[in-house]
Amino acid sequence: MLTFGLIADIQHAPIPDGFSFGGVPRYYKHALDTAKVAAKDFSQQSCDFAVNIGDTIDGKCGDDTIANGALSDVVDNLGNFQNGEWYGIIGNHELYNFGRKRWGSSMFASATTSERGINCQVSTENNADDIEDNLVGYYSFDKEDFRFIVVDCYDITSLKRSPTSEKGKLASDYLSKNPNEEKNSPVGLQNLDQRFVAFNGAVGANQLIWLRNMLQKSVDEEKKVIILSHVPFYPPIAPPTTLCWNYDEVLNLFGEFKNVIKATLCGHTHTSCYEQVRDGEERSEECSRSEATSQQSLICSSFSFSRLIANMTCRTPTRTSTTSSSRRRWRVSHQFTRIRLLNSGTTT
Ligand SMILES: [Zn+2]
Repeated sequence: MLTFGLIADIQHAPIPDGFSFGGVPRYYKHALDTAKVAAKDFSQQSCDFAVNIGDTIDGKCGDDTIANGALSDVVDNLGNFQNGEWYGIIGNHELYNFGRKRWGSSMFASATTSERGINCQVSTENNADDIEDNLVGYYSFDKEDFRFIVVDCYDITSLKRSPTSEKGKLASDYLSKNPNEEKNSPVGLQNLDQRFVAFNGAVGANQLIWLRNMLQKSVDEEKKVIILSHVPFYPPIAPPTTLCWNYDEVLNLFGEFKNVIKATLCGHTHTSCYEQVRDGEERSEECSRSEATSQQSLICSSFSFSRLIANMTCRTPTRTSTTSSSRRRWRVSHQFTRIRLLNSGTTT
């Protein structure tokens, strides 16, 4: 049995609490506590490794000095997990603060009290020049019989891509569907078209080829695949404003490999919900507070299903929750989770 910790959307910043672009409350300072509690829990529960699924510090950190300090503080707290490696994924807030080079392999190795760092592999495609416009953050790693495939949904993005670059131009094409001058606003967009906002992105053509090859290789090697992505792909579990721009292309590919993909775990939405697909029968449900445990059970039993697509992000705490011990437990319980992967369909 393999157990790993998962934390999403920490979004720490050393600033007073406030609101997201969409007006949702954010608890920038207290997110630091959650990172520490999660890391300690992962250690106590003997997790084999841990995944930080993106948006580590908030874009409101402001300048580089503040952002560097905030990042070090988060990483120091995540360093309370001592059992194994941390694996990282690039989210939109990573790109608000720093370019991709900053988020490269073992990007956190310079943190003051953590020597081990977090793996967040960054590379170029097809031997392109090692410049910001060409860097991508997709990679894979194996654990026992499982293959974890990290998808970079900010491959095609307007964030830290120059408008004249190939990927920047493709991002402009997607965002041309958005009629607003402020491209973070979905006003005027209908239904699933609301995904064409600047805080989302797309999976590029080269990455899709890589993904197909990696999935086929996993079939050949009889690996069980877990997809990790900051941005969700599946409309039933995510508001349309949070979807990957070309979610349909990605889902079609996943459908071709539904027998090898056992779960897809995403962040970005700040809600907790899941969708399971079993023998063509679909069911979606938003998880309330009391359902957190059953949600974990569902993930644990995912291998009895043909495919599971899950969104495991936290629900943002209410404003009063930061001073109440009981509420605080709730906040923490929704900021992270542990997942046990079984080789059979047995649940725990
Ligand atoms: Zn995000």
